[in-house]
Amino acid sequence: AVASGPAEWNGVGATSDGHPVKVYGNVGSPADAKAAADAGAEGVGLFRTEFCYLDAPSEPSVEEQQSAYTAVLSPFRGKPVIVRTLDAGADKPLAFLSPEAEPNPALGVRGLRVAFDRPEVLDRQLAAIAGAAEESGAQVSVMAPMVATVEEAAWFAERVRAAGIARAGVMIEIPAAALSAREILEAVDFVSVGTNDLAQYTFAADRQLGAVAKLNDPWQPGLLRLLKLIGDAATATGKPAGVCGEAAADPRLALVLAGLGLTSLSMNAPAIRTVGATLAAVSLAEAGELAAAALGTADPAAARKAVADALAR
Ligand code: PEP
Ligand code: MG
Repeated sequence: AVASGPAEWNGVGATSDGHPVKVYGNVGSPADAKAAADAGAEGVGLFRTEFCYLDAPSEPSVEEQQSAYTAVLSPFRGKPVIVRTLDAGADKPLAFLSPEAEPNPALGVRGLRVAFDRPEVLDRQLAAIAGAAEESGAQVSVMAPMVATVEEAAWFAERVRAAGIARAGVMIEIPAAALSAREILEAVDFVSVGTNDLAQYTFAADRQLGAVAKLNDPWQPGLLRLLKLIGDAATATGKPAGVCGEAAADPRLALVLAGLGLTSLSMNAPAIRTVGATLAAVSLAEAGELAAAALGTADPAAARKAVADALAR
């Protein structure tokens, strides 16, 4: 059924034997949110809040932010939404926040690192998110981008809770964080893997550079082995570990991710139904076999073939 591409999805993210794997949307604007809701997303696994800042000449006020966030959250009343705090820097510099020119912006003060010097900017954003949560009725969690250590994760979670937001998580997109996934999960409520950046930093290959795109293939066994550490940490701690990078939108890779122990998959709207339907056609044990087959290979082509062969059997 999987090989020929399943057509139907009942809207509840789960394997064929009923093991839940939530299927969420990635959104960055009210139009994205509507598209994700229309596609049947069970919630939002990644709300990129940058849009609200990138077009602004100066920091938007708490009121402006709150109304911008409410517009995105509104289609998800009663449903889970993970709001990511500002991920500025590197490819997304902000005139009023980002540091002077850095020799290596991708390795510089970006993501949560911006907040260490300017925590009041983070606190204003958290206040706006808390307000939008109440206004929209969505079940809001907050997560930070570009977290490297357990200490950073704990620092962020404390500020989120101080803002009156119940659930705090962090993205895992730096290899050091993947290697400490268990300890990080003990410090926060959930994690979500940004496979785009995790691949970039694991393979030391700029995600925007075509010349090294082959290294950033999400089927790279080296990346899958890091993802297994994160899935194992989720299983050991009983806390959620999702994937919100592009990897989650590939239906066969989605099966591998479920088999590795990841608990939710978040993607752009067009992929939602196909991924949901693909998951529903395979049991958790079968997904585990697919994951083991992919992990046992030496390169992305072999990993893809191992999974295709296993599905054909
Ligand atoms: C990622 O890095 O995989 C991710 C989801 O975040 P962004 O693409 O916004 O960096
Ligand atoms: Mg990222």
